[in-house]
Amino acid sequence: MKRLGHNVSGYSGETIDIHGLLGRIESAALAFGWRWERFTLPQLSHNSTADVLALHRSTATSHRHIYISAGIHGDEPAGPLAVERMLIENRWPADVALTICPCLNRTGFPLSTRENATGVDLNRDYRQPRTPEVQNHVAWLETQPSFDAAFCLHEDWESQGFYLYELNPDNRPSLAQTMVDAVRPVCPIDESPLIDGRESHSHGIIVPQIDPTLRPDWPEAFYLFQKKTRLSYTLEAPSDWPLPIRVNALVAAMRAALGAM
Ligand SMILES: [Zn+2]
Repeated sequence: MKRLGHNVSGYSGETIDIHGLLGRIESAALAFGWRWERFTLPQLSHNSTADVLALHRSTATSHRHIYISAGIHGDEPAGPLAVERMLIENRWPADVALTICPCLNRTGFPLSTRENATGVDLNRDYRQPRTPEVQNHVAWLETQPSFDAAFCLHEDWESQGFYLYELNPDNRPSLAQTMVDAVRPVCPIDESPLIDGRESHSHGIIVPQIDPTLRPDWPEAFYLFQKKTRLSYTLEAPSDWPLPIRVNALVAAMRAALGAM
């Protein structure tokens, strides 16, 4: 498997019809008994593209709660597609409750831009949110319980393969190597010692030493880590490979993580 070499100064690959995809996700979710939620703050209700869309699933035996989000960058279609695939396949551990936000940036996808339609990178807006999307998302997250683990699904057009970030300050049992091992048969792993400017802890795994309080521009994962979970993963599929391979990578990682929890 070699890189396509198409994405040299940004993402120029496949695009998706996000509204069609969200319609299919909603249909699949409802068919399999999920609860579909749409949330907006009253003062932002005039802007329906900034609503939070969320899916919830719990069972009588669920004693752990997992959060998954996708689509915060409009030039990263694999995340929302991976959510669709997992919903349609409908293979979930019986004892895990799930909350999924299938697309956090609905105006970025039609433009195939990382940012939303007003040009803001939503994944840098979580400390003092100014965009309606993130204001809604943070207000909604405040109504949610804590999560045993959180997964943010992303892509990186510069990477040499799949990789992930782990935030695990309490040294809980790590899911990182399990996910990388599950991805390896379906997608290359970024084996570089330096990925996205950060030292790779082990092949494809970055464990950033961060103090979120020192950073003004929080990504979603920092907010989750500060307020909602003590085990957070950001998964990065490599955009310079065909879209089905990137979707396979994210689905394989999530299946392995859910299976191991
Ligand atoms: Zn991203």
